Amino acid sequence: MTKPKGESPKGGSPKFKRILLKLSGEAFVKKACFGIEPDVIAGVAEEIREVHDLGVEVALVIGGGNIFRGSRETWIDRATADYIGMLATVINALILQSALEKEKIFTRVLTAIQMEQLAEPYIRRRAIRHLEKGRVVIFGGGTGNPYFSTDTAAALRAMEIHADVILKGTKVDGVYSADPMKEKGATRFKELPYIDVLQKKLGVMDATAISLCMDNSLPIIVFDLFQRGNIKRVVLGEKIGTQVR
Ligand code: UDP
Repeated sequence: MTKPKGESPKGGSPKFKRILLKLSGEAFVKKACFGIEPDVIAGVAEEIREVHDLGVEVALVIGGGNIFRGSRETWIDRATADYIGMLATVINALILQSALEKEKIFTRVLTAIQMEQLAEPYIRRRAIRHLEKGRVVIFGGGTGNPYFSTDTAAALRAMEIHADVILKGTKVDGVYSADPMKEKGATRFKELPYIDVLQKKLGVMDATAISLCMDNSLPIIVFDLFQRGNIKRVVLGEKIGTQVR
């Protein structure tokens, strides 16, 4: 892995040159499951700025589950529901873009479904060029295809832009042997092979996303997004969360 030139003011240099940060829609809400909490988004944007300040190239894939999760809706045709879900991710992408601009970061939203009045269409080489120029790139609209998820979009885009790693920020501090809310004895894995995630159905990311990462040897780090400073900790190589590889 190539390392960036940036140095952390506290010492230590980033472990990755280019990261893909996957944020679920739940990253936009701390207390509830649905909606948007501006304070939470501002906090996430601040943390992204701190990582960007280290000289790390940052790409983001944002989910839409805080607005609409098509895969869970049974009252509407699945493909239509999925397209609505993809639109929800674009709403989140624009919200995050505004929050990052408040942090004085140059950003570009690139969407897998064209909506040129709002954002640039996704073009792989353009995305890479933006990153090289120090812009934070936000991928909206998932893969652009129904029956997929934004986890799969994250794996796909990470591969396309040659990211060093996928950082998956969640509400829990890693991957557990069982649901830690339900089972007292559940233990957190520090490291985990892809195949175990698939075979044990550990729910880190969906199977399509994990398979894609496995086939292309792209590491995933799962960590608690709501612990202040965690994105930077991961980027500086602190062993928090669970590393899937
Ligand atoms: N979606 C889709 N194709 C994609 C990405 C997303 O159809 O490539 C739809 C799907 O309905 C999904 C919704 O968009 O439920 C929101 O994405 P996701 O559930 O991955 O969001 P998250 O759980 O990360 O907030």
